Formats: sequence, C-alpha cells, structure tokens
Amino acid sequence: MQKEKLYGKNINDLIAVTRRIGLPGFAAKQIADWLYKKEISSIEEMTNLSKKTRDLLSVDYEIGLYVPESVSESSDGTKKYLYKVLKNKYIETAYIPDDDRATICVSSQAGCKMGCLFCMTGKQGFQGNLSANEILNQFRSLPEFRNLTNMVYMGMGEPLDNIPEVLKSLEILTSEWGYGWSPTRITVSTIGLIAGIKDFLEKSRCHLAVSLHSPFDEERRKLMPIQRTNTVEEVLEIIRNFDLNSQRRVSFEYILFKGMNDTPRHIKELARILNGIKCRINIIRFHPIPGSQFQSPNLGTTINFKEALNAKGILTTIRASRGVDIQAACGLLSTIEQNKKTQRTDQ
Ligand code: SF4
Repeated sequence: MQKEKLYGKNINDLIAVTRRIGLPGFAAKQIADWLYKKEISSIEEMTNLSKKTRDLLSVDYEIGLYVPESVSESSDGTKKYLYKVLKNKYIETAYIPDDDRATICVSSQAGCKMGCLFCMTGKQGFQGNLSANEILNQFRSLPEFRNLTNMVYMGMGEPLDNIPEVLKSLEILTSEWGYGWSPTRITVSTIGLIAGIKDFLEKSRCHLAVSLHSPFDEERRKLMPIQRTNTVEEVLEIIRNFDLNSQRRVSFEYILFKGMNDTPRHIKELARILNGIKCRINIIRFHPIPGSQFQSPNLGTTINFKEALNAKGILTTIRASRGVDIQAACGLLSTIEQNKKTQRTDQ
C-alpha cells in the first residue's frame, strides 16, 4: 500500500494526522518544524518524537520528497529541471539566477486545459492537477533550494485552475509554522480566471500577474480561448475593486507577437483600460514553439513599445529572455521527454 506523504500538508492536515494516531495536538507543530524548518528527509530524523511514535507514524506515512529526473543548463546559468509526477507525467521547473536574486518558476499542473495558441504546455492538453506536495517538492528538492530568494507560479498549467492545492502550497510557504517566506517574494500568474482571482486575492497576500497579451477582446479570444467566458473587463473590475495593500503588486504579462499586438493602437487601448489601476506591464519576448504561426518582433520594436507605454504613465519593463538555448518555451522540454517515452513504449 502506498504511504501518505507528510510533506505538503498544512498545519490542519498535520493535526488530523496526529489525532488519527493518538498523539497530542502539539505534535503537529513539531512535525511541521521538522518538515519545513529543519528540512529532514526521513521520519527517523524527528528525534523529539519518541521511537514508538516515529514507528507508528511510519506505518502509514512517509516524508514524500523526490529528486528531479534530469536537468538542462543554459549558458546564462538558467537551469530547467524535469520532475516526474502523477506516475508517468513530466513537469518543468526553472531555476533562474540573476545577480543577488535566484528565482524558481514552478508548475502547478501537468499539461493545461486552457489551450492558449502560443503555448507548448497548452498543446499537451490537461494531464492532471499537482498536489501541494508536488508543487512544493519542486522547490524543496531543487539542488539550489538554499539560494532561492523568489518564487513564481508561471510554469506549466494554470495555477488558479488548481486553486486548493496552490493556496495550500502558498500557506506552507508563508506561514510562521512553515517556511515563513514573505508573500512579497512570491508571484502567482493567471490567464484571468475570474473565480480563481477572487479567491486568490482574498485568501493569500502574494503578488498577482495576469497574462493580458492584447487589450482587445476579439484578438485575445483568438490567442486565449478562456476570454470567451472570462473577459478582460471582468478581470480588471475585480482588481479595481479589491483593496490591495501597498506591499501587494499586480502586473500584466504581455507577450509581443510581431505585427499582431505591437501597434500604436494597442498602446493607446492598454493605457485606456489600465487607467486607474496601480500596476506594471512586463513585456515578454516570444519563444517560438514548433508549428506556431507567431513570431517575435525585433528588439527595436520591443523597446519602442515599452517606452511608449512608459510615456503613457504605465510602468513597463521588458523581461530578459533566459535559457533560450535549453528550450525556453514552457512545456517544450517535457513534451520532448514525453514523446521519447512514447517512442520507447511503441518499440
Ligand atoms: S499559457 Fe498558461 S494557461 Fe495558457 S495553455 Fe499555457 S500553461 Fe495553460
């Protein structure tokens, strides 16, 4: 019988575990300490629990950490790790060092059901939600774990389509009984799921990034099918009406596609719809994926676009392209691995 994993449980889950095996309530806090502060990898190491208790705990539980299957390293220092999840699926985790910062980009689902046209993960289709254990294992089992300063939920999947497990992972990261990270070190990205955004804003204190990619409904619908049911205006309405504290940041991600969403008309409309919202825009250069009709504009067009938005009073930056020599587009590496596995089983 497969044992239940302790890593990825929040304090209430751990209280339930201690009750189940007849331990006093304070044992839950002790277990959380071992899991998230003392960073042990076996129940045997929980030395302030009696030997009898550790044996009892080990009957049905294990810590549940596992190392990545492989790594690709870019000449710029970025690394992409492949983790195996949900038995036989692959997810990607990126480690992005940058001066005194080191960011981890985690996946929240294997594949994705949102079907954005420019995204390799979208082409994989949906393969399953990751548990809080599988989300946080990417962080804890990363060889560079101790260097990390920031975390973004911008890997494979739509985080707000897996909100219970994403919120649980954020709780563990930011709680005093967990890792105790400041929520301002964490950003969760979404393509704009209305219900998920409301939940996320109310139940966490982390930063929000919304993938915008076009200010025009019709155009956005073509890029991101979700626009049919969750319009930009509805998303903006929630953000406008939410009382964000001064520490909390909302940003809009904008992938520039050559000749499509990089015109003065787009700049004017972006300035109009974002008027009155304290936010910034991050321009992202498109990383081509196989079979895609989209192209990235040249650097000059990208810089002009950024400067025009800044001139309209919208703080805009261009995100540096990282890991371009190691399949930078999210979902590409795991697709290659998945295809290799399919070929092996076909032979
Ligand atoms: S861009 Fe994000 S939401 Fe869209 S298909 Fe890719 S992973 Fe899913």
